[in-house]
Amino acid sequence: MTTQLQYIKGIGPKRAKALEQAGIYTISDLLHFFPRKYLDRSNIVSLSDLKKGEEVTVIGKIEAAGIRRGRKPVFYLVISDGKGFLEAVWFNQARWFKDLFKVGEWVSLSGKVNFYRGYQLVHPDYDRLGDDDLSGVLNTGKIVPVYPGSDEFKKAGLNSYTFRKIFQSVFSSDLPEITENLPQSICVNYHFPDRPTGFREMHVPGTVQNLKHSIYRFKYEEFFFIQLMLALQHRYTSKDEPGYSFNKSSDRLKDLYHQLPFKMTAAQERVVKEIRRDMKNPHPMNRLLQGDVGSGKTLVAIMVMLLTIDNGFQAVLMVPTEVLAEQHYLNISKILEDLSVEVLLLTKSTTVERRKEVDLLMQSGKPLIAIGTHALIQEGVKFKKLGLIIIDEQHRFGVIQRSRLREKGRSPDVLVMTATPIPRTLALTVYGNLDVSILDEMPAGRPATQTLWRFENKTNKIYEFIKKRVESGEQVFIVYPLVEESEKIDLKSATESYNQLRESEFKAYKTALIHGRLKSDEKERIMREFSEGKIQILFSTTVIEVGVDVANATIMLIEHAERFGLSQLHQLRGRVGRGEKKSYCILKTPNQVGEIARERLKIMTNSTDGFLIAEEDLRLRGWGEFFGTRQHGLPVFRLANPIIDHEILKTSRSDAFRLINEDPHLRSPENTNLKMYFLANFAEKINYIKIS
Ligand code: ADP
Ligand code: MG
Repeated sequence: MTTQLQYIKGIGPKRAKALEQAGIYTISDLLHFFPRKYLDRSNIVSLSDLKKGEEVTVIGKIEAAGIRRGRKPVFYLVISDGKGFLEAVWFNQARWFKDLFKVGEWVSLSGKVNFYRGYQLVHPDYDRLGDDDLSGVLNTGKIVPVYPGSDEFKKAGLNSYTFRKIFQSVFSSDLPEITENLPQSICVNYHFPDRPTGFREMHVPGTVQNLKHSIYRFKYEEFFFIQLMLALQHRYTSKDEPGYSFNKSSDRLKDLYHQLPFKMTAAQERVVKEIRRDMKNPHPMNRLLQGDVGSGKTLVAIMVMLLTIDNGFQAVLMVPTEVLAEQHYLNISKILEDLSVEVLLLTKSTTVERRKEVDLLMQSGKPLIAIGTHALIQEGVKFKKLGLIIIDEQHRFGVIQRSRLREKGRSPDVLVMTATPIPRTLALTVYGNLDVSILDEMPAGRPATQTLWRFENKTNKIYEFIKKRVESGEQVFIVYPLVEESEKIDLKSATESYNQLRESEFKAYKTALIHGRLKSDEKERIMREFSEGKIQILFSTTVIEVGVDVANATIMLIEHAERFGLSQLHQLRGRVGRGEKKSYCILKTPNQVGEIARERLKIMTNSTDGFLIAEEDLRLRGWGEFFGTRQHGLPVFRLANPIIDHEILKTSRSDAFRLINEDPHLRSPENTNLKMYFLANFAEKINYIKIS
């Protein structure tokens, strides 16, 4: 399949170049360049059926186009589909639009129907469809593929119209051999079209029914091979790769259990059991522990670290910030006070001398617990007997950091803990090679935090409320947004608000401002003073988001709550309501907020369920944005959407895992095609998967 694209009719050297820039080198790449949507009778509204206010997609031939002079030039377009007429107008860049559209060509337009001396679309989305007569779309069930565009494509004259011509010529000549890549049983089971037919239907669709089957097939394929990779990885770590077996029972674990001032939740007991089972297995554990803020993950971590040291190994707890490392260190040292355990802290601010002592201890192989930030994975840190790595709040770490920590030991057990409940959909794709434990139960006796959404004009009332609570001895967080793109401005406005309020409204109270630019000992001092109650109102940017635990803090006021993401709001809210007192989270916004922000705020006031919030967050932000662009190694889907196509994802996953279970090395003749395809297309990615 290495036919040079430029020799295909309709491509040529210039277009071939543009395609190459988009990563399309071979016919196979070209075949996988799927339309981004299809226009057919099912999603096109006839121009005779328009209704004011409806969102529609229409197609039509351009009958007239031009610029209407007025105070500002307006570009207009009149289209007809043989049944009616419609005008579209653009108020900006009239000249640019004038050069874009030509009378006689077909376009599709999408937008909300307006009425102004006739039906009209204002600034609709558009796709140019070329000069074929497309009236058949409405009459005869013709289906028109619409392809993704780009500036490079545009310059080379590649648009939906030319792509349709190109694919018509591709499929009218002999195709190079396209081999099947799925086992016969799967193809039969789901009535998949064979691959050549599938590709043809995708690009030159015949009937809606066949197109649907083909789309299903290629979505399935996309998921299936990723799941196959995860299944292989899972199989390798849990069955083949040698690891340690922590099979001695732990006295310290038992002692701690009996010392606890409270009863463990059933979920905690269950999860500890799940982890212990993994740790006993002589293969590396690869487990994800999900639990909402406050669900008691730390205790679980402590227990399994005790198990590790009682088996003669060293355990590491890695967290994303220094403040959190320090807090964990203090907290855990205290809990383990009577159990004679060596607990170490290692961060950037560890002094050189202390660092030397710590290094010596680690290299001695003495069983211990080390807590730290990424300083732990910097070169030079050596553990003699690293048995367990726990990564807290893992979404903050990139894949590479995680792998580096792992390389420090032979094949230590890995437990990843996250307070951001990951929607099931994401967990299956991103962390699908991990086993998952869920803490879905909150410790008893915690009244849920009440969440209120208030507009700016209620600011005085909010301040009165805060003062009353502070008078009665409780503590308050006031949080300001700080986003990376506008970090300087945000920090400035947070600082200004703080300076103003400490001199006026909150003059009578002890206040402080904490943010990421402060030195870490300064941050530590402030956090310590806050947890000791010496600071009553803590102003902060989102540095306090992770892990800080102050039971007496009962109010969180979030300024400009409309600027935060859902998961972030949920995380922040988890900082209050950690004691027995009733807590409040006040989301303050301007009187006007955008549609999506409003939806987020409503969800926040209605729910405290982290999993539900995570699902909603994913839905509102969409795949890809959910983890932010900095998260590397996320699978990219061209056709499938893990949110919308969740059922296909689930099916392909169970098929892939079953297949690897039955034929772990893909040796059966039935799986030969699949193996060839997998090795050719995915083998290089296995390295990444192995470390995640
Ligand atoms: P997170 O899951 O957010 O890390 P933590 O482990 O910090 O939660 O636990 C939150 C608080 O709840 C801590 O103060 C911890 O001591 C306490 N805690 C943990 N488990 C229980 C339990 N079963 N019953 C009561 N309190 C608990
Ligand atoms: Mg925690």
